[in-house]
Amino acid sequence: MRRLIWVFAFLGMICHGPISAAEDPPFYVVTLGTGIPLPNPARGTASTLIVAGDRTVLIDTGRRVLENLVAAGFQSATFVVFTHFHSDHISDFGEYMVNRGVDGVDVAQRILGPAGTQSLVDDFLKVYSRDTQYRVDHHHEHWPTNAMKADVKECTPGVILDENGLKITMFDVDHEPIVPAVGYRIGFAGKSIVVSGDTKAIPKMTEMAKGADILVHEAMNAAMLENPRRMLQQTDPRRAAMLDDMMSHHSNTLEIAAIARDAQVKKLVLTHLVPSIAPNDAAERAFVQGMAEVYSGEIIVARDGLKITP
Ligand SMILES: [Zn+2]
Ligand SMILES: [Zn+2]
Repeated sequence: MRRLIWVFAFLGMICHGPISAAEDPPFYVVTLGTGIPLPNPARGTASTLIVAGDRTVLIDTGRRVLENLVAAGFQSATFVVFTHFHSDHISDFGEYMVNRGVDGVDVAQRILGPAGTQSLVDDFLKVYSRDTQYRVDHHHEHWPTNAMKADVKECTPGVILDENGLKITMFDVDHEPIVPAVGYRIGFAGKSIVVSGDTKAIPKMTEMAKGADILVHEAMNAAMLENPRRMLQQTDPRRAAMLDDMMSHHSNTLEIAAIARDAQVKKLVLTHLVPSIAPNDAAERAFVQGMAEVYSGEIIVARDGLKITP
């Protein structure tokens, strides 16, 4: 029995990391998924993990969220938070929930998000209802019955959580025609991390990111898209029009640099990369071209699994 307790204590250290009382509690971000709907073997789609002490906030659950979450040292999160319901932000939510059952988590998942979150979650759980029944029939009382349950709070912009030093503020962004679409500012231990969600460059972001330690912003390099755009206009006008639609509701890198400068953020992290570049130094240098002339702080082009501390 004692040996078993040690095994569980060790597993607990792996899952949550040892926390020393003498040190500041950990507060950092891991860009779990940094890609876009177009498949890129090197990138999952949107999901960002914030670690705040012994709690975790998982913002969006895009493709490969689970693999990247496990690689970051976690099996599940205290809170799941949605920015909006484009498929690249939600697609692996069901798999994330099933893994809670395998991991033995027997409490409902706390979920926060804008209007529509409850029905999204209900729909996912309905799709997975047969699977849940198979597992109950197969594992009987060993299957944690609360694993596939959700405790959802639909929120409007403002402070949506203020609990034991962890504060989450939701704000509207502009991802027209997708409404609602929101971003979040997470405060903990005197520091703050802002996650933009999907949006055009908006003055609201400058306001909400004011003085933030880290701004994680979606990013599009319009100059890199210019050649493919011109080519498509010649060869495939339908796809060229769709590319224009896409470009009209994301933020250009130089606009993001201006936001980071005006908001005086300490570090800028670019994610949700359009185009979905290879995760190498040359491509990243090209992606941020011109930004340093606008913003003098550190600019980081995210890769899947990258940990950034304030
Ligand atoms: Zn979107
Ligand atoms: Zn997206």
